[in-house]
Amino acid sequence: MSRLSVVIPAYNEELMVGKTCRVLREVLTGAGIDYELVLVNDGSRDNTWEEIVKAGKKDRNILGVHFSRNFGKEAAVFAGLAQAGGDVVAVMDCDLQHPPQTLIEMYHLWEEGYEVIEGVKKSRGKESAIHKKSADFFYGIMTKATKVDMRNASDFKMMDRKAVNSILSMPERNMFFRATSSWVGYKTTHVFFEVQEREAGESKWSTWSLVKYAFTNIVAFTTVPLQFVTIVGLVCFLCSLVLIVYSLIQYFTGAAVAGYTTTLIVLLLIGSGIMVSLGIIGYYIAKIYEEVKRRPRYIVSKVIRGSEDVYDQANHD
Ligand code: UDP
Ligand code: MG
Repeated sequence: MSRLSVVIPAYNEELMVGKTCRVLREVLTGAGIDYELVLVNDGSRDNTWEEIVKAGKKDRNILGVHFSRNFGKEAAVFAGLAQAGGDVVAVMDCDLQHPPQTLIEMYHLWEEGYEVIEGVKKSRGKESAIHKKSADFFYGIMTKATKVDMRNASDFKMMDRKAVNSILSMPERNMFFRATSSWVGYKTTHVFFEVQEREAGESKWSTWSLVKYAFTNIVAFTTVPLQFVTIVGLVCFLCSLVLIVYSLIQYFTGAAVAGYTTTLIVLLLIGSGIMVSLGIIGYYIAKIYEEVKRRPRYIVSKVIRGSEDVYDQANHD
């Protein structure tokens, strides 16, 4: 019988871990699905790990992975995929904003032969107006830049073992999970789900972290901004051609000088163009630097299965 692994990244989710495990167990056993829950504690500052250990004592199907510090959600998802042993693997948030019942729908689609099943948001959950606006804005940019519809995409998805192995075999450190799962291809479909309200705890995304997330992911997924630098350069070049012709004519007709303002504006424009371009290039170089260092994506310090310590048997990089 095939087995479903559910990967759940958790950062400061002490209030949710117990409930999430209970709900998932009820839903999945109710549907007669053999399952495993892979909870990755992403260096939480609260008692998330203690809660995972407690949940493990009650349920042998729980695999707990403990990071040595906070490495971010993408790393936690990746670690979960690496530890998951199922024939099909789902990824969902720890806050039950991704409805567990949808897992069953996804599972049936997998049984029908689909290899990647994407969860697509029907609408976004309740958020503050500013958060919504900034999320819309950056998802808009990311959609354009990555050519993958980001606005309603989510990290809620189910993947066949083959797709999981393809993702695991990708060497890059800066992984953008949402887009990567569509990049690998495979027979894909989607299911719609209604984003539930977070029951306890709070969202880990501030507006600033969203901005950083947008930039990191655009750079991780596309080199369009670098072409943008070239385009700005070309436009500047065309403008200067016009100005060169113009000033030569003025020179030969004897009406030269008296161009202080123009000179200043041109100088400032070109200067800022160059600096912005260098900034963009610098950002890519920084990312390249991070990649070539070949640091591990995350560091695992504890692994449990049920109530057993299995750190030595687990594979972790
Ligand atoms: N998360 C994580 N590491 C982080 C931040 C978040 O593992 O550094 C997890 C978090 O525990 C949750 C999921 O990622 O399971 C989504 O986080 P959150 O609910 O805060 O995001 P939102 O739903 O507001 O987009
Ligand atoms: Mg959430």
